[in-house]
Amino acid sequence: MSRQQVVIIGGGFGGLSVVRALANTPVDVLLLNSDNYYTSFPLLHQVATGELEPELIAYPIRSMLRHIKNVRFMTANVKQIDTSSQCIQTDKYFIPYDFLVIATGSNSKFLSIPGTREYTFPLKKLEQAVNLRNQIISCFEQAILEVNPSLCQQLLTFTIIGGGATGVELAASLREMVAAVVKDYPTLDVSQVRVILLQAGDSLVPQMPKRLRIYIKLQLEKMGVEVLLRSRVTQVTSEAVYLQGSTVIPTKTTIWTGGVTGNPLATAWGLPTDINGRVTVLPTLQVPEHPQVYIVGDLASLAGMPMLAPVAIQQGKIAASNIIRQIQHKKLLPMYYQHMGNMVILGRYNGVLDLGRVRLTGVIAWLIWLAVHLLILPGFRNQLLVLINWIWGCLFRDRLVRLILPQISVNTSLVRRQKVQVIKCIRSKSRSRFTTTRTREHTDMDSQDNYSP
Ligand SMILES: Cc1cc2nc3c(=O)[nH]c(=O)nc-3n(C[C@H](O)[C@H](O)[C@H](O)COP(=O)(O)OP(=O)(O)OC[C@H]3O[C@@H](n4cnc5c(N)ncnc54)[C@H](O)[C@@H]3O)c2cc1C
Repeated sequence: MSRQQVVIIGGGFGGLSVVRALANTPVDVLLLNSDNYYTSFPLLHQVATGELEPELIAYPIRSMLRHIKNVRFMTANVKQIDTSSQCIQTDKYFIPYDFLVIATGSNSKFLSIPGTREYTFPLKKLEQAVNLRNQIISCFEQAILEVNPSLCQQLLTFTIIGGGATGVELAASLREMVAAVVKDYPTLDVSQVRVILLQAGDSLVPQMPKRLRIYIKLQLEKMGVEVLLRSRVTQVTSEAVYLQGSTVIPTKTTIWTGGVTGNPLATAWGLPTDINGRVTVLPTLQVPEHPQVYIVGDLASLAGMPMLAPVAIQQGKIAASNIIRQIQHKKLLPMYYQHMGNMVILGRYNGVLDLGRVRLTGVIAWLIWLAVHLLILPGFRNQLLVLINWIWGCLFRDRLVRLILPQISVNTSLVRRQKVQVIKCIRSKSRSRFTTTRTREHTDMDSQDNYSP
């Protein structure tokens, strides 16, 4: 019997968990990801605030998988899925599958507030973190030259919308960054710098117990963050944030951490989604009506499971196990989420940890946060360099990464001028592997490279 082909879309926490669980099993696996690297999202705020270089929280997926014999990787953007013919279409290839796992994660959810999509800085991707760091440091560069005090104040006001874990961690880290960076601008008045955290609800990080929520707010305020609860944003422009009740905050930098939604491609692919854009799945993680298609991670909507890395990892293991069980005609397993607790870091030497019965605040929670996030980082070199950066930051109260880097986009014009070959992936029965076959020529495909298996 020929080996079954499993295609996985998305090389994040969920997709990689499926890959690892399918390593050395009797199936052939092809992992597709839009970037050639994996990103450790929980450390994204530290890139945005100059604590870590972007390369330290990312890792090439090929290097992660090179020792697994039955797994191949392709950098590709999946455009379309045809569940009836069991085939997916990327920007360059058509790829057939026997089993499909979709783990494309989530996107920022901008609600329907005017201006949020256009004028806020989201924090969901590595390049967005670099973009935000550029913006923050550019504001300092402009402020030091600004003679108009109100324009200077506007440049030095940083507003974060969303008081969930990401907003809180970012606010604390940004406040510390400001204290470090301002040393480079001796003529600037540090007291002018404002970091404002806006939360529509009446507490920060709502999933934490009340005592910890109060602690988080107090600690942020102690650091100099202005926490505005019950503050509903009505509009954002490039110059200001408008709140319900006619409050206006003049600012050039508004950061969006106000919510996430399932990757919108799922709806375009005709999958059944809930109001949050997440795909409704059976307890086995299969899509109803499509038993060969599994959803894991942020994209899966199942029994209110939160959008967290441990959920994605656990779902990845169950999906992999169910694929093997399906091939062996065994009963499939339902997904039960084992909650690992919640953690938040509040800058240097401070954090909050909620493990249910055990609740910690302060240095110990901070140390546990650091240890966990260091351990989940792939690559010993990255772990070592991140640790050195953290130690440096603690010893010298400094932020090392203060460059305003140009955002370089890949130049596709050269590629467009050439004839690009469309390659169709077929299954080679003899080798039972994903191979490629040239089928026809195409002239205007927006392509950057060709896949060689
Ligand atoms: C700033 C931030 C901080 C966070 N902090 C924490 C934390 O402290 N603890 C915690 O548990 N969780 C945290 N999370 C949430 C956690 O990162 C997610 O729950 C987790 O990443 C979900 O895993 P996933 O596999 O579903 O998606 P992701 O990890 O997002 O991976 C999705 C992958 O799919 C790829 N992709 C998307 N579309 C396509 C396409 N069309 N074709 C090919 N590839 C595609 C993307 O490039 C990406 O690599 C944080 C998230 C963010 C953004």
